[in-house]
Amino acid sequence: MNRRIYLDNAATTRISDEVLETMMPYLREEYGNPSSIYDLGADNKRALLTARKQIAGVLACQPQNIYFTSGGTESDNWALIGIAESRADQGRHIITSRIEHHAVLNTCKYLEKRGYEITRLDVDEQGFVQPERLRRALRSDTILVSVMTANNEIGTIQPIRQIGSLLKNHPAVFHTDAVQAFGHMPLLPGQWGVDLLSASSHKFHGPKGCGFLYVGEGVKLPPFLHGGKQERDMRAGTENVPGIVGMGKAAELAAVQMKNRWQRQTSLRDYMIHRIETEIPYCRLNGPRQNRLANNVNMSFSYVEGETIVIMLDMEGICTSSASACSAGQSESSHVLREIGLPEELAKGALRFTLNEETTREDIDYTVEKLKEAVEKSRKLNPRYASFLKLNEKR
Ligand code: PLP
Repeated sequence: MNRRIYLDNAATTRISDEVLETMMPYLREEYGNPSSIYDLGADNKRALLTARKQIAGVLACQPQNIYFTSGGTESDNWALIGIAESRADQGRHIITSRIEHHAVLNTCKYLEKRGYEITRLDVDEQGFVQPERLRRALRSDTILVSVMTANNEIGTIQPIRQIGSLLKNHPAVFHTDAVQAFGHMPLLPGQWGVDLLSASSHKFHGPKGCGFLYVGEGVKLPPFLHGGKQERDMRAGTENVPGIVGMGKAAELAAVQMKNRWQRQTSLRDYMIHRIETEIPYCRLNGPRQNRLANNVNMSFSYVEGETIVIMLDMEGICTSSASACSAGQSESSHVLREIGLPEELAKGALRFTLNEETTREDIDYTVEKLKEAVEKSRKLNPRYASFLKLNEKR
């Protein structure tokens, strides 16, 4: 059985052939250090500029607004810690949401231990942050608001523009973790009142270990890594030139087909949701039906463990993910699913499928068939399911 259907594109994406080809010369013959003044170095410096321009083109900003990092986690850490430390004399209050990625949540915890006060906003049952709730949480000592653009587990797209406009007359810096959104949907930080935006290359068919932080005009952010003068003294360390070149190309390619891909994936996503909802009993969709990432399907199934189904699907050549994370050997259900109000049983019975532009209807049909079989098999082994059915029969 050689078939592989990769439906875990929120975890990472396959590097595209064109991206890899663009990177190859910088791994072989163009190996110079961009800081060197001879030609081999200068070529690399030019390559960095090209990538900066390619990314800036997608965000409709200037190339100098883009700072290269090692990925989403570093960008989030830089944004949060940088603003917190540099504005500590103006206040120590930070607002975020309860369903952020751990790169933000755990950075907030780190800051909390250092005397910052964190307000974690509740979300509604579909995972939306309510701008009105955010407005009420704002204080004169609020220095930073960090709300993700789109959720990595349930695909909820936050009202970023609305949040940006409500912060217009407040001095707090607005950061958004756009790791799941960049390259997938249009983002205009300059127009939307976003000051800082994090992104990660491996989520849009670029290489891993590479990302960037957008820093808006006039936003004062201190350097995060100290050392050499790279990235205009803001982020020291020899640049990951092949990675950055690949990321630039991936950004450019992502922008070209964005609208068509979005439409195509939305229709496949909705087809998949419809099939599951009508063909597999006792399931529910997690997250919204509208304002949802085009490639995200997250469903909970009663009387099964998500992880068991992931393993069963893997045996059929399907890569997917249960929304649970393992910590210290203990299987813990997803904080996102708990925060949208799911009981533990449904949070543990969740599965996330994230499509890409190569996913076909045939892939979805095959996956739904295999999913049906796996859920049925797994439920048959669950004595609680048998008692539930018996109880239903009596009624
Ligand atoms: N933020 C979000 C929303 C993510 O989904 C991820 C990765 O899954 C990250 C941050 C971290 O990005 P990276 O893997 O580039 O460190």
